[in-house]
Amino acid sequence: MKKLIAGNWKMNTTRDEAHALAKGLQATASDKVEMVICPPAVWLADLAAILKAPLLLGAQDCHAADKGAFTGNIAAPMLKELGCTYVIVGHSERRALQFETNAIVKAKAQAAIKHGLIPIICVGEIEAEREAGRHEAVVGQQLAESLPETGHYVVAYEPVWAIGTGKTATAADVKAMHGFIRTKLAESVDHADKVAILYGGSVKAANAAEILSTKDVDGVLVGGASLQLEEFRAIAQAAPH
Ligand code: PEP
Repeated sequence: MKKLIAGNWKMNTTRDEAHALAKGLQATASDKVEMVICPPAVWLADLAAILKAPLLLGAQDCHAADKGAFTGNIAAPMLKELGCTYVIVGHSERRALQFETNAIVKAKAQAAIKHGLIPIICVGEIEAEREAGRHEAVVGQQLAESLPETGHYVVAYEPVWAIGTGKTATAADVKAMHGFIRTKLAESVDHADKVAILYGGSVKAANAAEILSTKDVDGVLVGGASLQLEEFRAIAQAAPH
């Protein structure tokens, strides 16, 4: 499968910055990788008009319900109507700051699949859990409780201590955890080798080639570096194909 390079802009960019970044990416888009841009929801409609294949649009979150009295939330069918292909669910910032549980994340992922979106389901341990040697137990439980029983989804392994910190897991740690995730997937789905497993956590141009050529790494989820045109482009170019 092609490497999946996803950019999570989080709550960043003015409208002008979003347009400039999207146009810059579009101008040099390569179909050797699958590239997904997840801007703030308020710029999704603008980017839907700018981004063309092979660039794809993604959202940063969705609600589990199709519609209803959920002030400030966005439903999966709305994202589909806007032209999204992907939606991130269960990002560690939402798990920590919006108190999202595995059950909530699973419900969001199921809603995304129901409406024709591909959820990028995030899992990952905090630093204390890794130091205590509990990282596989933690991620194993997140997988067991967050992944839908059926449907097409992507898993993103994002060790929380590596997000936005400049610290990256070693290639050996990434390989071990991605292998663990693949094994867990194989226990519940028929084609575990077809489920893309992304790594996320301080990915930048300088470390992208090593991470992207690590076994069982099918792509990357990039935060900070996805806001810099040249960095993000270089990350995509570092993907082996
Ligand atoms: C993220 O938030 O998903 C992420 C990986 O951020 P960063 O690349 O900035 O560590």
